[in-house]
Amino acid sequence: MSGQRPLLNLGPISPTPPPSYAAAHDDEEDEKDAPPKRWYHYLPLCATVIMLLAPHPSMLYVLVNYHLRILHAPHRFLLHLCITYALTFLAFSSLIAILIRDPGPVNVEKREQSAQSEDMNVLQALLTSDDEDIHTPGKWCRKCWAPKPERAHHCSHCRRCILKMDHHCAWLGYKCLGHRTYTSFLHFLLCITLLALYISVLCSSVVYFAFTNPLSIDETTPVHAMMLAFAGFMILIVIGPFVAYHAYLVSTNQTTLEHLSPFLLLRQLPKLPEAPAGQHRLSDPPLEHELSYSQRRLIREAHGHIRQYDIGWKKNWAQVLGWDRPYGWIYRIVIGGVGKGDGRNFPRNPRADDMLARLAADLVDLDKDR
Ligand SMILES: [Zn+2]
Ligand SMILES: [Zn+2]
Repeated sequence: MSGQRPLLNLGPISPTPPPSYAAAHDDEEDEKDAPPKRWYHYLPLCATVIMLLAPHPSMLYVLVNYHLRILHAPHRFLLHLCITYALTFLAFSSLIAILIRDPGPVNVEKREQSAQSEDMNVLQALLTSDDEDIHTPGKWCRKCWAPKPERAHHCSHCRRCILKMDHHCAWLGYKCLGHRTYTSFLHFLLCITLLALYISVLCSSVVYFAFTNPLSIDETTPVHAMMLAFAGFMILIVIGPFVAYHAYLVSTNQTTLEHLSPFLLLRQLPKLPEAPAGQHRLSDPPLEHELSYSQRRLIREAHGHIRQYDIGWKKNWAQVLGWDRPYGWIYRIVIGGVGKGDGRNFPRNPRADDMLARLAADLVDLDKDR
């Protein structure tokens, strides 16, 4: 594929596409187009894998010594062994899904098309989009030189747009989490939280037994159990709030980016109303640096209650957990599944448009007072 062919000159938009533009039109090429990862990018991933594997030798030692040698309870030993390894297996399966899946290819429908038809599609997109759409941030990515679907964002680390991008995660392979991997990410978080909870509760009971029956247990088993219980509680303290935060995001149908970036709302505003006494000084859509202090505060306050994609918590969860393929429940158990839909179109909160229109009018009102 050629990456240097000239396109239309559309004034303010960069007249020549970046060399990577053609490659960005194929989801298989999307990953190849990403900058090469350095060895140190994999260090956090190694730490994650070590964190998952490290407790197992001690855990086996505690299970064998406590349940087999002291309690003589092989059934309980087998049950705890199966639960521990099932949770570890599920955590690894969703981690592998996150690592090997493309988080959200923007141009998947163009995979089979030739380079020429790709060019025609880009030209067609440019010609058929009205000027407003091309110039509106969020509708067109000037770095990939391609249309940007709803809720997609350009990741500066991966140097490409990601469908329904949640965030770029350094801990899980220095990759983005997007429409196709976010559910696996939730699954991974849930599995390691449950594993940490299970190990810490189980090992706490061994420590309690050691304190109440000091003569019936050896010296090293309580030490291993105590270390495991401590590590489990530490992981719970760190990961637990993170799980709760993502549960809140899914319940209100927001991505991390949308939740942390109030000024993304500016891209969603409808056409600003004309100010009766002269023109207001805002661009359409308004840019963040044009806003006064009171306008910025208004946007921050509005961001707290305008949930554009919130369609009720049940439907929000169904959107993330949905998998409309045969045997979808197997995928959901093993890797968490994948989000419903194509990652480009999302049902909107029916009240959101009215709230955004009111916000646009309030912004213009505040601009008149400046
Ligand atoms: Zn982009
Ligand atoms: Zn990224």
